[in-house]
Amino acid sequence: MKVAIIAVGTELLFGQTVNTNAVYLSRELNLMGFDVMYHHTVGDNPARLVEMLDVAYKDCDMVITTGGLGPTQDDLTKEILNDYFGDELVLHEPSMESMKERFEKLGRKMTDNNIKQAYMPSRSHVFKNDQGTAPGCALEKDGKYAICLPGPPREMTAMFESYVRPYLEGRTDGSMCYRLIRTFGIGESDLETRLMDIIDGQTDPTLATYAKEGECYLRIASKRADAAEAESAVKGMLADVKKRIGEFIYDCDNRDLWDVVGEKLMAKNITISSAESCTGGMFAEKLTSVPGISAVFERSFVTYSNGAKEEILGVKKETLEKHGAVSEETAMEMAKGLRKVSGSRICVSVTGVAGPDGGTPEKPVGLVYIGAVCDDKEVCRKVQMRNISRQWNRNFSMLHMFDVVNRLIDGIKD
Ligand code: ATP
Ligand code: MG
Repeated sequence: MKVAIIAVGTELLFGQTVNTNAVYLSRELNLMGFDVMYHHTVGDNPARLVEMLDVAYKDCDMVITTGGLGPTQDDLTKEILNDYFGDELVLHEPSMESMKERFEKLGRKMTDNNIKQAYMPSRSHVFKNDQGTAPGCALEKDGKYAICLPGPPREMTAMFESYVRPYLEGRTDGSMCYRLIRTFGIGESDLETRLMDIIDGQTDPTLATYAKEGECYLRIASKRADAAEAESAVKGMLADVKKRIGEFIYDCDNRDLWDVVGEKLMAKNITISSAESCTGGMFAEKLTSVPGISAVFERSFVTYSNGAKEEILGVKKETLEKHGAVSEETAMEMAKGLRKVSGSRICVSVTGVAGPDGGTPEKPVGLVYIGAVCDDKEVCRKVQMRNISRQWNRNFSMLHMFDVVNRLIDGIKD
């Protein structure tokens, strides 16, 4: 079944709200086997919503709207769909009752404009709102479907999970399976070249590449009548992809690099510490976002000045004078000094020129050194980034730190 998602709300057009509802619905509907064909966004304007519906139903069997179900004058989605489907609004007693209950529980007075939320199209299937007041509904006529959901993401997702998903199951004509594969250290065009013949010849499963900040993602997707069939088709292609670019893949389940690294550290009980210059603590911030990481994460220093590098990590003055703060020598002394003070098994450091100023012909903006020690291994990675912005340079440096650590962990034979 072909679906269009219409997000209703002027604040979306102003750029004040990010349309996360469409992202959520797309993901869930695709997994259920629906073909999401369009994302539309329209303001709180009845005429334009009707035009949008005309456009959507030219190609799609189902429209899902979010937003505009509230009690105020500009909340008109349900009313418009009711007219569009030639229905009439009637009082829906169960909705009225649960709204009254909700207001009583909260100790608030129900205002008259709330009552309009309990009026539903007479032939509609009503979805209860467990997180708010406005119910949603499904309309059906001549093989065309419409589903109206509330705008607030918390209400919308809860309603979808509890009531809309069961309503939609059985109305799909297939099952979708997909895997999101994360890679680091390879550019999108290089990735595409290595996978070109698969991409060119694809029908099902399909393979697509996406460039993300400093990383590349791959999506393998299959839609078959049977869920197990789709899954095995995806598995087959994944095996082929791994053969070609396996060295760059860090996860096949859409997890962030720091989650992957954090979980490996915990699983193998490897302690870690970090010393950061240009990233100012970004590595530690990401690592501490992993639940349970306190079991292995020992400490982190932001040693921004030369003085801090000397005092805290014991980097030699001569090293800084001779080679500079941004050098292989300094990065390695940072990592080794960190091991002395922390005793951690893996110690990782970073020093670089984040920009926008401070670059020289020998050490341009975007030059970064990552130093790391682990048991008897010492590694230094030099990276010259494309210097898109200061923030990009810092973010990319942080990702490189995780990649270096990830490879060190993989190299440990236990
Ligand atoms: P309410 O009863 O709160 O008025 P509603 O169903 O009428 O709900 P809207 O008024 O359109 O929904 O939106 C309410 C809030 O929900 C918005 O201010 C915004 O924060 C959030 N929201 C609306 N649409 C979206 C969307 N597409 N993606 C993410 N958030 C959204
Ligand atoms: Mg509203």
